[in-house]
Amino acid sequence: MKAYRAAILYFSDTAQAVLETDGLLVVGANTQGRQVVQAVGAYSELFGRYPGLAIEHLPGRIIAPGFVDMHIHYPQLDVIGSPAEGLLPWLENYTFPHEKRFSDPDYSAQTAAFFIEELLRHGVTTALAFASSHPASVNALLGEAQRRSLRLIAGKVLMDQNAPDGVRDETEQSLVDTEALIQRWHGVDRLGYAITPRFVPSCSQAQLRGAGELAAKYPQVWVQSHVAENKDEIAWVRELYPQARSYLSVYEQFGLLRPRAVYAHCIHIDNEDRALLNGTGTAAAISPTSNLFLGSGFFDYAGADQAGFLYGLASDVGGGTSFSPFHTMLAAYYVGREGQTKTGLSLTPQQLWWQHTGGAARALGLDGVVGNLLPGCEADFVVLNPQATPLLARKTAQANSLDELLFALIVLGDERLVEKTVVSQAQTA
Ligand SMILES: [Zn+2]
Repeated sequence: MKAYRAAILYFSDTAQAVLETDGLLVVGANTQGRQVVQAVGAYSELFGRYPGLAIEHLPGRIIAPGFVDMHIHYPQLDVIGSPAEGLLPWLENYTFPHEKRFSDPDYSAQTAAFFIEELLRHGVTTALAFASSHPASVNALLGEAQRRSLRLIAGKVLMDQNAPDGVRDETEQSLVDTEALIQRWHGVDRLGYAITPRFVPSCSQAQLRGAGELAAKYPQVWVQSHVAENKDEIAWVRELYPQARSYLSVYEQFGLLRPRAVYAHCIHIDNEDRALLNGTGTAAAISPTSNLFLGSGFFDYAGADQAGFLYGLASDVGGGTSFSPFHTMLAAYYVGREGQTKTGLSLTPQQLWWQHTGGAARALGLDGVVGNLLPGCEADFVVLNPQATPLLARKTAQANSLDELLFALIVLGDERLVEKTVVSQAQTA
C-alpha cells in the first residue's frame, strides 16, 4: 500500500466535486492485483487507520482523477493544425495521406509510443481511439498501451468505399480482421477493443451489417464512429440513404446503437435522434476544439440533458487542436455559451471537469472503474501544480470557492499544470 497527501479532487456523486484540502489518497491492490483506491478523505481522519503507511507528501499540489478522452485518432497525430476548408477536404488532403503510412508496423509503433507519451504528458489516462484501417496500427497502439499499463480502447477503422487506395479496406477481410483483433486484445490487461466504422459514407452496407453483427456477438466490445458533424457530410448520407429518417438512424438500422457505442460530434441532430441515443444507451463524444476548428457547429447541451443521453468530452485530435483536457474543457465552455443556433448556457467548472473524467467514464460504461478516485476505482490520477505559471499562481491564490479554483485551472491551464501522471499498475505477488 502507498498513500499520497495533497489536496484531493474527486466526485462524490454525478458532477458533484469535492476538494479535500488536506487529503489522503490510499492506494492498494484489489483481488486481481490491480492498484486501486483503498480510501480517500481528510488526512486527519485517515492517517491513523493505516499505521506504518508510506506517505508521499505533495504540499501545494492537487491530486485529481486522470482524464478520460472519449474520441481521438492516433494516426492523426501529424494532421493536427492542418489548414482545410471544412471536414471533407480536410479528410482528403491531410487525413487519408497520413493514415496510409500506418500500413508500416515500425512507423505505427514509433507513432504509438509518441502518442501515448503525449496522452500521459497531458494527464489523459484512458482513451477511446481510432487506429487506421491497417490491423498493424491497432497492434502497435494496444501493444504500447499494454506496455505502459494504460486503459486504452482502440479499433481498426472500417472503410471499404469512398476512400483512396492505401486506406480503403476489403469488406470481407475487414470483418475477419476485426474479429481477430477482438479476440487478440479485448479484455487483455486493461485493454479494450472498439468496432470502428469510420462513418456512414466510408462503409458499404455489407460492411455496416457485418459490424452490427459483431457488435451483437460481442456486447462487451465497444463501437465507435462519427455522426452529424457537418452539413455536407449529412447531405452525402442523405444521398446514400434517401429512405433513412436521419443520419443516426442509419446506424440504428445496422444494429450499431447500443450501450458502449460512442458517436463523435452529434451536432446536427433532432429530438427524435436524441431520444434514440437515450433509448439505446448510446453515448456522444463531444469534441469542441475540433468542432470550432472545422467550423462544424455547436453541441446542444440543453437538448442533450433534456433527452438524458450519455455524453463526455473528447479531443478528436487531429481535427481537434489539442491533447490538453484543459483546452477541451474551455472549448466546451465556449460551445455551451453559444446561443444563436441553440440554447446558450454556462456550464459550471464542476460539470466541465466531470465531463472529462467521471462523466466520460460513465458514458463508456466504465463508471466506478476510472474517472474518479472513490474507493475501488483504478488508481489513475494526475498531480496538478496550481502554481505552474505566474498567472495561474496569482489567480488560483485568489480563488474563494471550488468553482473559482477549477475555472481558473480550466481557463489558464495546459500541460504545464500536470506535474505527474500516475497510472494504475498490476502488482505481482
Ligand atoms: Zn473523429
